Amino acid sequence: MSVNKIRYVVDNNLCVRCGTCVGVCPLNAITLNDRNYPVKNSSCTGCGHCIEVCPGIDVDFPELTMQLFRKRFNINGLLGFFTNAYAGYALDPDIRANASSGGVITQLLIYLLEKKIIDGAIVAVTDPEAPCQSKPIIAKTKDELLQSMQSRYTIIPVNQLFGKIRQMEGKFALVGLPCHIHGFRKLANIDPVIRDRIYLVLGLYCNLNLEQEATLDLQKISRISQKEIKNFEYRGGEWPGAIRITKKNGNTHNLHYSNYKDGAFNYLSRLYYAKRCLYCIDGSSELADISFADPWVQDGNGDWVFKGGWTLIFERTEKGGMLLAEAERDHAIFLKRLYGYSMFKRFINNINKKRKMALVRLSNLKNKNKPAPEYHVDDPTIPVKDRLKEYIFSLTLVFGKYEGVRKIITAIIFSRIGISLTKLRIFLKYRVSNIRLSNRRF
Ligand SMILES: Cc1cc2nc3c(=O)[nH]c(=O)nc-3n(C[C@H](O)[C@H](O)[C@H](O)COP(=O)(O)OP(=O)(O)OC[C@H]3O[C@@H](n4cnc5c(N)ncnc54)[C@H](O)[C@@H]3O)c2cc1C
Ligand code: SF4
Ligand code: SF4
Repeated sequence: MSVNKIRYVVDNNLCVRCGTCVGVCPLNAITLNDRNYPVKNSSCTGCGHCIEVCPGIDVDFPELTMQLFRKRFNINGLLGFFTNAYAGYALDPDIRANASSGGVITQLLIYLLEKKIIDGAIVAVTDPEAPCQSKPIIAKTKDELLQSMQSRYTIIPVNQLFGKIRQMEGKFALVGLPCHIHGFRKLANIDPVIRDRIYLVLGLYCNLNLEQEATLDLQKISRISQKEIKNFEYRGGEWPGAIRITKKNGNTHNLHYSNYKDGAFNYLSRLYYAKRCLYCIDGSSELADISFADPWVQDGNGDWVFKGGWTLIFERTEKGGMLLAEAERDHAIFLKRLYGYSMFKRFINNINKKRKMALVRLSNLKNKNKPAPEYHVDDPTIPVKDRLKEYIFSLTLVFGKYEGVRKIITAIIFSRIGISLTKLRIFLKYRVSNIRLSNRRF
């Protein structure tokens, strides 16, 4: 019966594909299909644990916030509760250069492993059998952690590994997106073994995630065969990184020019977005011990203020703060404490936009009596201007609904003409109109 409820979650587009239901099931009665959706097998006895921990259908933000921070959840507070914010980077220059932002996550995990504070970490790595895809692993060596560097803008059900963690001795870290962390917090409330074993929760910021078809279509556009590919990266090479393929012979091929932020990713997010992400209200991993993001701040000329790899870090729990301080003291990471957030106006605006738009969409679902995720917050009064903004934004998502159309648009964007047009757009945006976002330099 409970697995039928999981089917209800999937059939109604509520599933975030976190894998928590797989990880909680004591009978291994749930597996994931090739698109990472859970499916039942005949061993299910209907115990109901899977639906109890599912963050796709229900996340009690007020209750979980109170449990973790002894604070009230604030639907208007965009970054969640935090005690300190920093910009930082890994002091190992190779990690800094090869990670997605400043490599603080990878360096911190290596530090904790070497200090024997943790015995391993749930992270994501390139799947050697399908190098354009990623898979979760429990990394127990420095080498495995180094392989997990980089943001993989695709759905990876990392929580499916909780079943394995339950069978292992020791303490582990979990690196995940906000929805993974919601699933973990729900599970930790009913499973004391997992609660003890997952010692530290490192959360990524997340505006939205991409379907795996994005990577597969890009591989086809590149005309490089699967057999030749060793690795696919969304942020490969010099910061902020380019979408690139590394061949088995060591050659690298950039699929778009080296400007991740203003370049192709923005288009891909309109064409290959995971639909469930449109209803997600947590952009900053509010329930993590520490959250990590990119300090995207530009000056009036469109130049990055934090260049060369920096991670924006929000210390949320006492444990998170203590471990960051130890890693800094032992020269594993560099941390610069941030006191004012005015320069992060645009970053905060994005988080605001994500939440506001999700609230509009949730209200639309409820008005139509359609199944919607429950977040245990009062229905907000939504101003007409927010509804209008959401409507206009949703028009930009229309092409993503048609597989054939999005493939054609992607092929154009990644063609020489498309890349030239993107460069022209950026030139006009920053050099001619000279939008002044912030004049502060770091
Ligand atoms: C889907 C996605 C959306 C994001 N959206 C934003 C955003 O809107 N704004 C913003 O500022 N930052 C966003 N980030 C976070 C940002 O890209 C960096 O991951 C973060 O700044 C940490 O950088 P780092 O160099 O310290 O991490 P690294 O040292 O490079 O380590 C990255 C860690 O993230 C894990 N990881 C990578 N991809 C996934 C995944 N899909 N699921 C679970 N774990 C994963 C890896 O296993 C690794 O442990 C997003 C990340 C992802 C994966
Ligand atoms: S627990 Fe996660 S993967 Fe399972 S049904 Fe819920 S949202 Fe989907
Ligand atoms: S937007 Fe929300 S649901 Fe989507 S991947 Fe990010 S955290 Fe998960």
